[in-house]
Amino acid sequence: MISLKNILQFKRIVLLIFLVLLLGLLVPQTFTMPVQKASIHSYDQRSFWAYPWGKSVTYKGVDIFAKKGTPIHSSTYGMVLLSGQNTLGGNFVMVLGPKWRLHYYAHLDSIKAHSLSFVSTKTVIGTVGTTGNAAGKPPHLHYTMKTILPYPWRYDKSIQGWRKMYYLNPIPYLNKSFKD
Ligand SMILES: [Zn+2]
Repeated sequence: MISLKNILQFKRIVLLIFLVLLLGLLVPQTFTMPVQKASIHSYDQRSFWAYPWGKSVTYKGVDIFAKKGTPIHSSTYGMVLLSGQNTLGGNFVMVLGPKWRLHYYAHLDSIKAHSLSFVSTKTVIGTVGTTGNAAGKPPHLHYTMKTILPYPWRYDKSIQGWRKMYYLNPIPYLNKSFKD
């Protein structure tokens, strides 16, 4: 039976969820280039949404090239949600950062961050490598930035354009990090 007490409790939970979401959106995002000593020439300015791109159809991130073993910092502060191995990404780290955004770091040579640990832009979370489907290619960091809360205004008519509601172009953030 639904009592008044249940309804009040439900309202309180909804309010709490709303406040947590809002708080996450309001936290400012400080952003740094994740690959140590990388420059504006370490990545391709036009790589985002490049098509065709194998199994992924369009390219949803950026590859930042550097020597194998170069330290990788978290691009924002946040919490490591997951780190481990998968087929395409090889050694990877996934960080939940401000504004409910997920930051994915792949092809790492080594992982230096533990799941559920807090990281800042000073934290080394891994090193550049060639694991996963980067095997045989020049060492690089594969980096993607994804928002959990969809941005409907980012939707466009390009191939897989609806997925732009979730996948954010990291390149303007990287470029800007050199000017700050
Ligand atoms: Zn990549």
